[in-house]
Amino acid sequence: MPQGIGVFDENLCLRIWNPGLVDILELPPDIVREGAHFSELIRVLAERGEFGFGDVDAIVERQTALATKFEPYTYEHAGPRGRAHLFRSEPLHIDGQLAGCVTTCTDITERRTSAEREQLAQKVYTHTPAGIIFTDEAHRILSINPATTQMTGYESFELLGQTVFGLIELEHEQSLEVFQENIAQHGSWNGELQVTRKNGDNFPAGTRVNRVDDPQSGLPANYIWILADITERKQSEERMRHIAQHDTLTGLPNRLALLMRLAQLLPEARRHNWKVAIMFLDLDRFKIINDTLGHQVGDEMLREVACRLSSVVRETDFVARLGGDEFVIILPGINSPSDAATVAGKVIVSLSSAIEANGHELHTSPSIGISLFPDDGPDGDIILKNADTAMYHAKAAGRNNYQFFASEMNLATSERLNIEHKLRHAIARNELALCFQPQFRAGDAMPTGVEALLRWHHPSEGMISPSRFIPVAEETGIIVEIGDWVLTNACREMKHWIDAGLKPMRIAVNVSARQLRRRDFCETVASALAASGLPADLLELEITESSVMENPQEAIIILERLGRMGVTLAIDDFGTGYSSLAYLKLFPIDHLKIDRSFVADIETDLNDRAIAFGTIALAHSLGLRVIAEGVETEDQLDLLRSNGCDEVQGFLFSKPLTSAAAFAYLHARCAAG
Ligand code: C2E
Ligand code: MG
Ligand code: MG
Repeated sequence: MPQGIGVFDENLCLRIWNPGLVDILELPPDIVREGAHFSELIRVLAERGEFGFGDVDAIVERQTALATKFEPYTYEHAGPRGRAHLFRSEPLHIDGQLAGCVTTCTDITERRTSAEREQLAQKVYTHTPAGIIFTDEAHRILSINPATTQMTGYESFELLGQTVFGLIELEHEQSLEVFQENIAQHGSWNGELQVTRKNGDNFPAGTRVNRVDDPQSGLPANYIWILADITERKQSEERMRHIAQHDTLTGLPNRLALLMRLAQLLPEARRHNWKVAIMFLDLDRFKIINDTLGHQVGDEMLREVACRLSSVVRETDFVARLGGDEFVIILPGINSPSDAATVAGKVIVSLSSAIEANGHELHTSPSIGISLFPDDGPDGDIILKNADTAMYHAKAAGRNNYQFFASEMNLATSERLNIEHKLRHAIARNELALCFQPQFRAGDAMPTGVEALLRWHHPSEGMISPSRFIPVAEETGIIVEIGDWVLTNACREMKHWIDAGLKPMRIAVNVSARQLRRRDFCETVASALAASGLPADLLELEITESSVMENPQEAIIILERLGRMGVTLAIDDFGTGYSSLAYLKLFPIDHLKIDRSFVADIETDLNDRAIAFGTIALAHSLGLRVIAEGVETEDQLDLLRSNGCDEVQGFLFSKPLTSAAAFAYLHARCAAG
């Protein structure tokens, strides 16, 4: 027998036993002998600490007293080396007389641990937050744990016998058969599924399926489905994704999101032969608003612009902010470039009404560059870069307009870079020079002054026209340094001429918007005057109307300071930009220069004539004098003169001349007059 058996007589002396008794209890063989007393055996166990630690005599006495009662008992006992023993004792009667007891001892270690394991498993099964579904070989539900009920809303009885597939939904492309086959084949499956609740809702579940094989046949017998509700993880992933892909200021998608959208959209467009338009949009004058009114106003304005852009485009279009005042709109699936032009037109209209920001009424306009996929580039990077290039051309074309990309633009861009590179050395290498074009009184053609015009003699490229390099110099800021050079040299030149005997006369110097924005511009002018010794009232600064209109309030302050210094001011290229008469009245201006484009057509074009004559009348009503530039013919001169134009400048009288030639020319004319 696997148990140990000992028979004790009525005096608790051992009478019969089997080898199992010695083995299971691990008793020393000399103790187990005929007539050994119960207490002797117990003492061995007590000394091993199997009844707990304490006084061994007392333990032996207590256990012996218990046995002496000869009552049936069962007792689970921790044996040596972590084994579990079950003692049973039954009184033994012979002919109705108590004759002793039979004691058995069974090793129940295996049984106990497997029961414990089962209990533990049961605990896990009931208390784990994971849903556990136990199915048969056809995925029919055999049992579910409480967490499954909690997740799905189904009670156990509602699901028993149903297949798991009534509860879950697979990814779009996956078929049930393939999925089942997969699990059966690989023994387990990991992934995400949608689980449908009793109330019809869905939630994403991280899922693991394990196959359990029948140990006899080796065939799949059961499956264990373990589900975890990952809604929260998905939500926080989604939140992170949103944060990473959106601009916090406007809530629009950011550059990363834009690139991802393009990466997804362009291959699709290529497959279907669709065109995609990319519009790159930059706000005109935003930097000035931001710098002068503060970032809060700038931010407010960007939010409003974002709002307006989102409302003009369609649902399927995509508006992103790249940062600063740069926005990009993607128009997928357009039919022709004119569709993009229509949207660009709408964008311009939507931004044309004033924007209210922190109590300021602001005006902005967009410069928009448009490129088309696949016509203007094979991938997102190039398409975007080309839209950016086109945007620069829109800016150069006078802002508030849109331009389609054309491959020549990249040539223009590289030319610009080329010029910029060379221009940086022009002053140091002495490549710049001034020439001078005389100006005359219209009535008697007496010289009144000269305009200083910049020339760049590049050693290998020859003469580079100011209309080519001045815009680059303005864009890059090199104009500030060049402008200082022009001012200093122009003043010095006129002072030389006067010192050499020329009748003192005015010298006009062109000033760009970029120079005018500098805080220290008045000081620059003052020091050019001081260094040359030229009287301030002989210096005239030519400023274009657009440069003062960029920020009229600030311009007034600077121009007034210059006026107080005695310097005179002329508005150059009048009529080509956009002026507010209300402001014009506020500037301390002395001259208006009618742009040469009006003068050129004054004989033939009635509109130009009306503008030229209107300008003269307007200027006179404001107390200003008028100079017409670009006068090339006698007829032009006659028309201007008879309509009251005060002064003239142009090839009819003289081209721009070198310093020496200008001095000789003026000296002779003044002497002759
Ligand atoms: P602007 O100030 O309007 O200068 C007048 C331009 O008209 C000059 O061209 C001059 O040569 C040209 N011009 C004069 N008379 C006639 C004429 O009868 N017919 C025609 N067709 N043209 C005439 P330029 O020298 O090529 O200068 C072009 C522009 O470059 C200037 O226009 C001015 O805006 C800018 N610029 C020139 N020098 C400077 C400078 O030192 N600083 C700045 N900021 N700009 C300058
Ligand atoms: Mg000028
Ligand atoms: Mg001009």
